[in-house]
This record gives sequence, C-alpha cells and structure tokens, in this order.
Amino acid sequence: MSPSLGILRVSRGTCLVHSARRGTLGLVLASRGVRPVSSCPDHHYDVVISGGGLVGFAAACSLGQSQRLSDRKILLLEGAPNKPWQLPGEFSNRVCALNARTRTFFRKLGVWEHIEQLRAQPIRRMQVWESCSEAMITFDGQDQEDGALAHIVENDVTLHAIKKQIPEHVEVEYNAKVESCQVPKDSSSRVMLSLADGRTISTDLLIGADGAKSLVRRSMGVQHLAWDYDQMGIVATLQLSEAVDNTMAWQRFLPTGPVALLPLSDDHSSLVWSTTRQQATHLLALSDEDFTEALNRVIWEDNESDARVKSIHQAWLRLLETVVPGESKDIRQLPPSVARVLPATRGTFPLGLGHAVHYVGPRVALIGDAAHRVHPLAGQGVNLGFGDVAALTRCLDNAVLLGEHLGDEEALHQYEKEQQRYNVATMASIDGLYRLYNTTAAPLVLLRSLGLSAVNVMSPLKDKYRRHIKAWTMTDDHSQIRDYKAGLALRHLVV
Ligand SMILES: Cc1cc2nc3c(=O)[nH]c(=O)nc-3n(C[C@H](O)[C@H](O)[C@H](O)COP(=O)(O)OP(=O)(O)OC[C@H]3O[C@@H](n4cnc5c(N)ncnc54)[C@H](O)[C@@H]3O)c2cc1C
Repeated sequence: MSPSLGILRVSRGTCLVHSARRGTLGLVLASRGVRPVSSCPDHHYDVVISGGGLVGFAAACSLGQSQRLSDRKILLLEGAPNKPWQLPGEFSNRVCALNARTRTFFRKLGVWEHIEQLRAQPIRRMQVWESCSEAMITFDGQDQEDGALAHIVENDVTLHAIKKQIPEHVEVEYNAKVESCQVPKDSSSRVMLSLADGRTISTDLLIGADGAKSLVRRSMGVQHLAWDYDQMGIVATLQLSEAVDNTMAWQRFLPTGPVALLPLSDDHSSLVWSTTRQQATHLLALSDEDFTEALNRVIWEDNESDARVKSIHQAWLRLLETVVPGESKDIRQLPPSVARVLPATRGTFPLGLGHAVHYVGPRVALIGDAAHRVHPLAGQGVNLGFGDVAALTRCLDNAVLLGEHLGDEEALHQYEKEQQRYNVATMASIDGLYRLYNTTAAPLVLLRSLGLSAVNVMSPLKDKYRRHIKAWTMTDDHSQIRDYKAGLALRHLVV
C-alpha cells in the first residue's frame, strides 16, 4: 500500500481513501453487486505500468530514476513469470537494432554501459538493394561519434540491462496478469484494475505497455487503425561461411518482402526474413540445410530483374556519371554467404501495422506496441517505444513541477502530441517503403530504381535522404521530419 494513501474499510462496500500527501479525504463508494474491479481496491499506487516487455520495463526504469517522481509509488505488472537469466553462449534469435536516439536515452539511464558489457554489435554500414533491378543505396555512420548507425542487441540483453537500472523503490510483480481495467470518464476518478489472482488495485495513472493486443487500449475504447500485411517475419541465428569484420547490415527487397542480415559477431548474423504466410510455412518446414540454401539463393540470385528495367537503369547510371562524375562509383558489395542456420533458432511472427488514434485518456497513457506497431523492415518498432518512454517521463516531470496530478489530461495530451507527430510520420514512411517495394510492376520498379540510384550518387539528395533516415535512427531532433504531412494524411485516414 502507498505510504501516502490509506484505505479504510468502513463497512461492506464502502471505503474511505485518505491521501496524506494532499491532506484530503475522499470517499469511494462501491455498492454490492458491482463487478469487483469497482469495489475497494486492495492497494493503491501513483503509477501502474501494465506489461513488462522492453518498453514497460524501460518506463519503470525511467520513471523510477526521475528525481521529481522519487516519492511516488510505482508498480509494474507483468503477466508472464520471471525467468532467471545469464548471458548464454549462443545468440538469441530475438534481436533489435537499437538506434542512436535509443542509445542516448539508455546512456542517461545507465543502461547502455550494461549492454556494452554484455553483448552488442555495431552497424557501421548498411547496404539496401533489390532483386528486381540493380539499384541500391548505402549508408554509413560516419557522422556519429562512434561511427555506428545502430547496434544489434539481443532483446534479453536489453531487458536484463534495463532491469539492472530500475531503482529499488519501484515494485515489480511477475505472474500478475491484469484481467480488467476500469478507466474513468474524467480525471476526477482513479483507474481501477483487477488482476487474475483476484486482487484489485487503484492508480492515479495507468500506463499501458501491454503490447499490440493491449487490454489497456481496448479498455480506453480508443479507435485503433490496424491492418495485417499478410506476412510473417522469420527470425533465426546464422553462422556465416567465414569470419569477417561483420559490421555491415544487409537488406534486400524481394517481391515477397525484405530479407535482412544483421551482424551479431564476426561470424554470426541474425536473420529477419519477411515473406508471405504461405512461403513462411514452407520455409519453416525445410531442413536446416535446405533452409540455408533457400536463404543463400534469395540473397545472391539475380533471376528476377526485368531486362528492360536493367538496360534503362544502366543507361541512367551512365547519365548520372556524366552529371556527377565519380559519385556513382559507390559499387555494390557482395553480401556474406551463410554457412548454416543454427539448430532450433527459427521462429515466426505475424507482421502488421497498428496505431491508436489517441495515446492518452483520463489517467491513462499508452506506450510501445500498445500504441503503435510497425513492419520490422526499418528496425524502428521498439525504438519508437523507447521514444514514448522518454517523452512521457518529460511530461510527467513537468506535470509535477507545475503541481498537477500525474493523470492530468493536459500533461498527457502534451505527450500524445509530441509522440504522435514523430511516430505517425515514421509509420507512414515505413508503410510507404513497404508498398513501394511490394510490387513487381515494371514501370514502378523502373521509377523506384531510377530514384534510388539518383539519391545514392547525388550527395545533396543523399544527405537529404540520410536526414530522413537520421530522423528515424539517429537524432532527437523532431524538426527534421519532413514527412510530417504524409504522417498527417495517415492520421486523417485513421480519424
Ligand atoms: C521479427 C521482428 C523483428 C523486429 N526487429 C526490430 C528491430 O530491429 N528494431 C526495433 O526497434 N523493433 C523491432 N521489432 C519490434 C519490437 O520487437 C517491438 O516493437 C517491441 O518488442 C515491443 O515491445 P513492447 O514492450 O511495447 O511490447 P511487448 O514486447 O509485446 O510486451 C508486452 C508485455 O506485456 C505483457 N502483457 C500483455 N498483456 C498483459 C496483461 N493483461 N497483464 C500483464 N501483462 C501483460 C506481455 O506478457 C509482455 O511481456 C521487431 C519485431 C519483430 C516481430
């Protein structure tokens, strides 16, 4: 129970809630026959985070470390059991590319140091190319202080590092599934939660970090735009044919979806292969050897390019060479060949897009996949979630400074405004990229190939494009998002 709040059971169904901090006495009425969630809570917390995935734990860490929130009772509820963890010899098949923005945030929390001590592989260069033409683009992290575009980190490593930095006063409960939540119509009442084990909890602010199928979001009754890409993401750990300076990320767009090799160590990479459900089922059924062969084929083979597209594209490259001599020498590098897929590391995940029209309501805020879900092709999903955590922490800090309560709608709306502006633009770009590459129609293949090659060889254009990518991957500067209008268009679609 919160030290600042006492709950006195006066008679059956009625209880008095006393707030020592504000010196007020409030009356909470719970009549007989009403669902248990609305009866007197067993406990009260200032903040409850529902969901202990990467984003929920990051919120527990960030809010717990906030000086202004240091006297607040914070509880994280995770439905799954706690699994003891030690760094295993083998790499996990679940990894994320953590961008520079996340790295900066994690440095502030003291999380990044733990990640570095455990395991992380920098991406210094990235090559993106496609199977329908010879167009390609490369990026490097030369304008980053450590020269890295991003780092590939196993999800378990990130989670462990975050947990190490959660202050002791933050309570964490595992096996604590939230079964229902009652969100108030306005900020004058509190949120009431009922857990699967029968306990009830009230809170001034509920943070929904409970993933793409969020119960919190459903309880808010907020409109949710979602569609299924009818694709699965196949993940696996790969051993490369030879040890190299493996700091390059490779992504090839195929008509069925992108396939990406993300560096883990000199001779290991992580696979994210997005493809149709049908092909995913087929690929999963293959032996490890046949799967490896199928993978090498889609990375290496060149049998899908259209001869007309190829010749026009080559003429275009020659023309570009006359316009910007020397610049088009950015030659395509050969991707690594895969020696084998490590046994029992293949897994699949359904891929879709989801976006809550509102991230906040009275005394509720959504973060992470509960608020937005994206295709993994740009490696942005969890990075957006960590951005939510940073923004929400700032908003709650300000609310406390201004003497407002934690569930204050004004403060929460500030969080929503800030994050939707950023997230919607990013989501629109990712979805646009997915659609652009999801076609084999020759005119479109030609257009995108000419466009990509022009961007790749013309420094000013490439710098502009890099700034877009940077807005996704590197900086904290939201003003760099020129795709805002595209984002707004998506939002209008949603509303
Ligand atoms: C194949 C693939 C590759 C990806 N690669 C990248 C990448 O490179 N970079 C990147 O940024 N992102 C990537 N992502 C996206 C990233 O994995 C997700 O965005 C991220 O894991 C979402 O984290 P979350 O904490 O918001 O949600 P989740 O991970 O879904 O966590 C939700 C948590 O809430 C708990 N929960 C749910 N309901 C309840 C309840 N009622 N009560 C209590 N607890 C509950 C669950 O047990 C779970 O622990 C990838 C995704 C996929 C599928």
